Amino acid sequence: MILDDIKKEIDKANRIAVVTHENPDGDAIGSSLTMYMALKNINKDVDVIIPEYAKMFEFLPCINETKKSSDEHYDLVIAVDCATEKRLKDNNNCFNNSKVTIQIDHHEANKMFADYNYVDPVSPACCQILIKVLKYWNIEINKDMGVCLLAGIITDTGGFKYSGVTSETFEIVAWLLDKGINISSVYRRVLQTISKTKFELNKIATSRITFYENDKIAFTYITVEDEKKVNAQLGDYEGCVDIGRDIEGVEVSIFFRELKEGGYKVSMRSNDYVNVSDICLMFGGGGHMKAAGCTISSGTIEQIRDKLIAQTKRYLK
Ligand code: AMP
Ligand code: MN
Ligand code: MN
Repeated sequence: MILDDIKKEIDKANRIAVVTHENPDGDAIGSSLTMYMALKNINKDVDVIIPEYAKMFEFLPCINETKKSSDEHYDLVIAVDCATEKRLKDNNNCFNNSKVTIQIDHHEANKMFADYNYVDPVSPACCQILIKVLKYWNIEINKDMGVCLLAGIITDTGGFKYSGVTSETFEIVAWLLDKGINISSVYRRVLQTISKTKFELNKIATSRITFYENDKIAFTYITVEDEKKVNAQLGDYEGCVDIGRDIEGVEVSIFFRELKEGGYKVSMRSNDYVNVSDICLMFGGGGHMKAAGCTISSGTIEQIRDKLIAQTKRYLK
């Protein structure tokens, strides 16, 4: 069993680091912090490295113990919730300099880039996998870890509403509730409450929505200039892609965020049958069937939009 092999590597290692993907979402941060706490609690010497994160995650236990970067050569680096090595971005060196590498993830298009790859695409969140993994290793999941795990499950399932949700998701949440975790409070903090600047950015994205292919595709974008204007904070653009997806008749929502370094971060969502991960893979990205992304560095908004729409069209019924 690969989990036994991974545990042996953990037992052998002296210095361990936990890393995740760039622009970390709730699942990336929740998984990282849980793995960090789990290893600390079994007396491992461990760092958790998260270069930057959105303000709304500041309430998570141990988040103030995260390192922004590290040049150290670790015995073992564990990547969580990350489909490709490229998406480790600033932590790429740290990963490559490690003696042994492990990853735990739930992306279907995972590139199996570590020495040990534990990937379960059926799981709607990496945090959901971690619960199984920690139980298998007989590592106690305390309340702090429970809060982080719940934050990841709630964000990656859109509040238990995406089709990837399994009966196990609800069993886990019931178990966390019995542990005394305030589900409602975590839910509100990671999913419901939005900052004033996020609201302003959403307003701009909403006002720009245009429809294509008999209103089956919704498209919108925000620019660097927009973000400057509303004084946007990291992560304020999260959720802009959901606005179009939630409009009746829309199958695919496409959202662009202009990057400071040039180019556009593309987010795609589908409602029913279009595999947006396949489309993003064509542009060097990936993700899940109904939620995927890629980064496109050349072309104008209109050119990139037209390219994506041309591909998306082929998948529409
Ligand atoms: P996002 O639109 O950034 O919220 O991402 C949606 C999903 O696609 C997430 O599960 C990401 O992990 C994945 N994803 C986003 N961008 C990329 C990328 N450039 N390469 C691979 N996967 C990505
Ligand atoms: Mn993620
Ligand atoms: Mn995830």
